[in-house]
Amino acid sequence: MLEKIAVLVTLIVCLFTNTLFAQDLRALARIDTVQSTIADLSYRDLEVKLNLSQPIPYRIFLLSEPNRIVFDFKEVDWTGFSAKDILLTEKVTELRFGAFQAGWSRMVITLSEPMLLDKVGMLTGSAKGDATLTAKFKLTNPEEFLANVGAREDAGWDLPNAISATLPKQRQIGDRPLVVVLDPGHGGIDSGARQDGKLEKDLVLLFAKELKDNLILSGRFKAHLTRDEDTFVSLSGRISKARELGADVFISLHADALKSGWATGTTVYSLSDEASNEASAYLAERQDRADLLSGVDLSKQSDAVATVLMEMARVETKSRSDLLADMVVSGVAQSVGRLRKRPHLFAGFSVLKAPDIPSILIELGFMSNQSDLNNLMNAEWRQQIIEGIVLALDTWSVEDAAQAQLLRQ
Ligand SMILES: [Zn+2]
Repeated sequence: MLEKIAVLVTLIVCLFTNTLFAQDLRALARIDTVQSTIADLSYRDLEVKLNLSQPIPYRIFLLSEPNRIVFDFKEVDWTGFSAKDILLTEKVTELRFGAFQAGWSRMVITLSEPMLLDKVGMLTGSAKGDATLTAKFKLTNPEEFLANVGAREDAGWDLPNAISATLPKQRQIGDRPLVVVLDPGHGGIDSGARQDGKLEKDLVLLFAKELKDNLILSGRFKAHLTRDEDTFVSLSGRISKARELGADVFISLHADALKSGWATGTTVYSLSDEASNEASAYLAERQDRADLLSGVDLSKQSDAVATVLMEMARVETKSRSDLLADMVVSGVAQSVGRLRKRPHLFAGFSVLKAPDIPSILIELGFMSNQSDLNNLMNAEWRQQIIEGIVLALDTWSVEDAAQAQLLRQ
């Protein structure tokens, strides 16, 4: 998790995260002195390891005369924090900490020798919902230290209000119509599967339009399509479009063909754990980070910082997506009467990798199977599936809103 960071100063904007952290979201973070140390790794390396009761935004920078390392955090409750218990090095002559300005806290480490930040990372995800910030510093010469002194001008850092204004929009709490973005797979030069002269791109577009009309007619949803004609849309373009449209939910629709010939029936996919992690690493490598998390500009952040942010948002989104997939499975099972043996599967589809929008992919059926293909072309069957999906979205939006309310308490 610890990645080389080129820039000296980092800022992590913490997102509202995992349900496991729920009880602490409004409480101040505390530092567990027992699990925290400032210690030598070698004669030239110093490690600052802080165990926090929850992930929080932070930044690190250097000050001179005397040489100091400064950690700024979103407000910390310092109760029980003791410098002498965590200081296990001669490279530090003094450790101070306390409130810095409204909503923010500061820890200042005075150094006996000039040191530069080498690596930093915040690991989250334990069952307790805590986070460990690990920063490694290495000896340097006075000239290089001086060249790296100063706080970077991160937009919004000195204006805590500006930061909260750039957080992603609140997850839905049931007080407005759910915004559902439907994503008919393929399109344009990409036909998807083809069977008996039928093209997947046409069948899923027809289905998506019918589903959209049903959602809107119910009066409880706003619904949009990532494409409403036979055009090509890139996978990342589909996610960007969903974000632009303010999606609460993203549903990709397919009817692929499988070579084996045995696949049949409706299947609902959500992102697998492994794919989640790969997705984070992949997304963090991308140049266009700015649009990946709505409202949070990651383009100035290092890869490591961006990856942490992605992970934190994704943990909550993943459980919301899994719940939606399960509810679509039971909704469709109710409306159609039966489903295949394992109707909810996990996969690494790129189109499910938005870190902050609950996303599922529905394989309505497989065109390679004759009865599935007949179903797909049958308006009555489509209407049954649509009723199952609408039922699922109704159930999910209530349950999801209830969980969001719990998070706020
Ligand atoms: Zn497809």
